[in-house]
Amino acid sequence: MSLVKIFSLSTRARVAGTSNALARFASSNEGREETVYPQAMAGYKYVNADDPNMTFKEMSNRAAQTLFWTELVRGFAVTLAHIFKEPATINYPFEKGPLSPRFRGEHALRRYPSGEERCIACKLCEAICPAQAITIEAEERKDGSRRTTRYDIDMTKCIYCGFCQEACPVDAIVEGPNFEFSTETHEELLYNKEKLLSNGDKWESEIATNIRADHLYR
Ligand code: SF4
Ligand code: SF4
Repeated sequence: MSLVKIFSLSTRARVAGTSNALARFASSNEGREETVYPQAMAGYKYVNADDPNMTFKEMSNRAAQTLFWTELVRGFAVTLAHIFKEPATINYPFEKGPLSPRFRGEHALRRYPSGEERCIACKLCEAICPAQAITIEAEERKDGSRRTTRYDIDMTKCIYCGFCQEACPVDAIVEGPNFEFSTETHEELLYNKEKLLSNGDKWESEIATNIRADHLYR
């Protein structure tokens, strides 16, 4: 059998199948007045509300609900239940919810256990920062190692994307778990190296725990 013939037979079969389905759909909806949309045949679900049930019982139920404002009464009941129940919300700041190890909070610069700074002034974090919030200056030490002399982050420009942390080859700059660092002035959010290192010292155990928890995925 030629390819053209096979194609023509399969097309005819498809058309016949569609016609049968349309006929079945039409016969199952005989007597109904609503519009039959072709999408219904293509697996779409028709989500508009059905016509209301017009039996006497259903009609009297609907009338009673409207007449006695039962929705309002049910709403009050829900409100009262919430007032007299144990509050479901967290009593912040005395209680705090759990944080993911991947939470991206306040920045910190970490040190090695010896106390030496991790940062090697490669400037990858500065280069990748999409907000251009990081400013680094560096120089070589007497021992030949390279360290920063200035490491600033403008926290008001930062968008907490975490790129700096991802780019850092020595896990020096990280976004720690602290989210409570709101201030009253703009200047207080211009972090320098001293502030970032002190953040690192303060949060090191939590940061190290989070990095360990996530190491399989990095
Ligand atoms: S978190 Fe993103 S925006 Fe903020 S300093 Fe790091 S790279 Fe820049
Ligand atoms: S924090 Fe990391 S990425 Fe940024 S300069 Fe230091 S070593 Fe490089």
